[in-house]
Amino acid sequence: MQAAIQTRHLSKHYGDLQALNDVSLEVGVGEFFGLLGPNGAGKSTLISILAGLVRASGGEAAVLGHDVVRDYRQARASLGLVPQELVYDPFFAVEDLLRIQAGYFGLGRSQQGWIDHLLQRLELTGKRNSTMRELSGGMKRRVLIAQALVHKPPVIILDEPTAGVDVELRRTLWAFTRELHSEGHTVVLTTHYLEEAEQLCERVAILDEGQIKVVEGTAALLARHPFRFLSVTLDGDAQIPEQLVPLVDSRDGRRCELRLPRATQGIPEVLDALRSAGFRIADVHTRDPSLEDVFVELTKHST
Ligand code: ADP
Repeated sequence: MQAAIQTRHLSKHYGDLQALNDVSLEVGVGEFFGLLGPNGAGKSTLISILAGLVRASGGEAAVLGHDVVRDYRQARASLGLVPQELVYDPFFAVEDLLRIQAGYFGLGRSQQGWIDHLLQRLELTGKRNSTMRELSGGMKRRVLIAQALVHKPPVIILDEPTAGVDVELRRTLWAFTRELHSEGHTVVLTTHYLEEAEQLCERVAILDEGQIKVVEGTAALLARHPFRFLSVTLDGDAQIPEQLVPLVDSRDGRRCELRLPRATQGIPEVLDALRSAGFRIADVHTRDPSLEDVFVELTKHST
């Protein structure tokens, strides 16, 4: 089956720095995929290679089977990239900007219905005649999203689309992205907000120091993680017993969070040990690991 995105042994050097190191990755058509990693992991480099903005030092990358170098035009036409940075021409009106962008892809008036739809879904209809410089930051971002989607790309990459974005735009964006995904578009998302990735992405890749650490279904990745958290609120001026100290994950005033191996039934024993040490237990709850916990675990050395 044709992959939406495929990279084979992809590498990128910037001088001595190896930003990507032998990255082989496949994203299937129709997936909602998360590309996660700490700052400097190589996410933007990978995306830039896919969009033909940066040349790889080695290996291959293709979008819907079109090699990003040999078959640049088709690869680029298959891809919609919502960039992280707000780069735009201040003097163009919103709708003109979208028409010009459609023109780059050889699309003309036929695209008007879709442009109207984009304006409406991104709540830009009232701003269609405003110039970019007249718009607020949030509105500019909406236009850049519309611009990335104007050629109805089958594969959509959103690079940190919600960084510094207000709640309303975040909601609009996710509702619209889900709609596009349900219509068959492949969506690749990079985000710092791991809660978002956990909710939205069926599969995630964790990139760290230029290498793929893990590629797995989000639910499977979470289930495979063999620990859970026990959060206790403690009263009393006692010391955490020595045998529990290695389990303490965080402490914040009276609240103490312990990380327990999932296989053991250690909760009653932990509570007994805390009581024996002189604490009164005011509250207890447990939680399963979140994607954020798994992410921290897998990228520990670099944070
Ligand atoms: P991420 O998007 O995951 O934060 P990047 O792909 O931006 O990571 O960066 C990966 C590494 O490559 C970082 O160490 C970064 O400093 C370096 N890097 C990125 N772009 C350039 C560039 N144009 N010149 C030199 N180094 C770069």
